Amino acid sequence: MTLNTIITVGAGQTAAVAARTLRRRGFDGEIILIGDEPHAPYQRPPLSKEFLAGEADPESLMLLPEAWRQKQEVELLTGAAVNRIDSNAAAVELSDGRSVAADAVLIATGGRPRTMPVTGSSPERVHYLRTMDDAERLAAQLRPSTRLVLIGGGFVGLEIASTAKALGAEVTVLEADEVPLARILGPEMGDVCTRMQLDNGVAVRGGVRVGAVATRPDDVLVTLDSGDVISAEVVVVGIGIIPNDEVARASGLDVGDGILVNAQGQTAIPQVFAAGDVAARFSDSAGRHVRVEHFDNASKQGAATANLMLGRVGVVDSAHWFWSDQFGKNLQFVGSARYTELALRGSVEGGEFTAFYLDNGIVRGAFALDRGEDIGAARELIGTSIEPARLADESTDLYDLLDEDEELVTA
Ligand SMILES: Cc1cc2nc3c(=O)[nH]c(=O)nc-3n(C[C@H](O)[C@H](O)[C@H](O)COP(=O)(O)OP(=O)(O)OC[C@H]3O[C@@H](n4cnc5c(N)ncnc54)[C@H](O)[C@@H]3O)c2cc1C
Repeated sequence: MTLNTIITVGAGQTAAVAARTLRRRGFDGEIILIGDEPHAPYQRPPLSKEFLAGEADPESLMLLPEAWRQKQEVELLTGAAVNRIDSNAAAVELSDGRSVAADAVLIATGGRPRTMPVTGSSPERVHYLRTMDDAERLAAQLRPSTRLVLIGGGFVGLEIASTAKALGAEVTVLEADEVPLARILGPEMGDVCTRMQLDNGVAVRGGVRVGAVATRPDDVLVTLDSGDVISAEVVVVGIGIIPNDEVARASGLDVGDGILVNAQGQTAIPQVFAAGDVAARFSDSAGRHVRVEHFDNASKQGAATANLMLGRVGVVDSAHWFWSDQFGKNLQFVGSARYTELALRGSVEGGEFTAFYLDNGIVRGAFALDRGEDIGAARELIGTSIEPARLADESTDLYDLLDEDEELVTA
């Protein structure tokens, strides 16, 4: 089928990479990005880091600068929400009644913060962080000695803690699990990250549940299930995201935890694709649909679906990778934290190491603190059987281990 017009529903990371890929591959038809935010596509990772700290301006976050869009003739509709895709009419219907014809559609609507009930007279003291506007509102309330409580000790929450601390705020993190990040990194590495917060003056309370959040003119009372009450001037709720799957549902697509797509990113409707945070893509290696909420995944899937639209292979089933920056340290993770043993390379105390996750002798993943250079090799080592002592031995070049005659085991 000849493609004249390709539309992305959503104009975030995935959509931006898809548009770039389409043009790079020589697609010369119409590309229209439709996003409900008032901004052109921008990067979200700096929102909890440099942008929140006031060290980056909106312009530096832009993924497709205006000059590029003009030159490449990529059309952008901002402040425009899509309601549904009418596959019979091959059109996308907007909430303002407009209908835009499309030969192929990429749904890249991302997710929105999971919310919790907030009562009282000053709801503006309670924040979520997903958009540039959210970050601006939060930044305006963070001052030296502001009492900030973060509900949720995930990566975004801990990054906000780090940024706010650097701005001079008094920060408390409340986390339902005993050890923040333990579910993602395992208890040992979760503990390392928690210690980093504590060493930098953040109060971390694990194993606590928030029962109520009540705002007052001058503060917010956060009541724990234990009965403890914490007073804060500003609260950020970071308890995960919910995929924005409404367009898919309204279009009759299969939805579980995200929009269900095959290994290529295709939905059940021909020429309708989904990618990024909103998509649950079938993974052959996992044997099930997997939804991932990271930048690298969004970029790869955006590129893969664009390639697929143009008839190129679009499967992405590589190990997941993400990073975080906290207290001047770079954290990176690749693969999965399924493990029976950890092999440590470098020094935890020295604040520079890589932990390899081994499951019965097979490398499954790696977490690096200020040692991102190991992550590339670790990605290649996933699925191989390597002696933990060899991984830990600093005199061994990790790439040499790839060449050794180790037993390759498929994940
Ligand atoms: C504060 C923060 C920090 C992060 N830091 C990191 C990090 O350090 N490392 C990392 O790997 N990842 C990080 N991430 C995650 C990463 O930014 C996301 O994985 C990525 O943005 C997902 O891209 P996406 O295109 O799927 O969704 P998004 O970037 O969320 O874009 C989706 C867009 O679609 C719009 N939309 C939704 N519904 C509709 C509709 N019906 N009509 C029109 N438009 C619609 C949304 O408003 C949004 O603008 C961070 C995320 C946040 C919020």
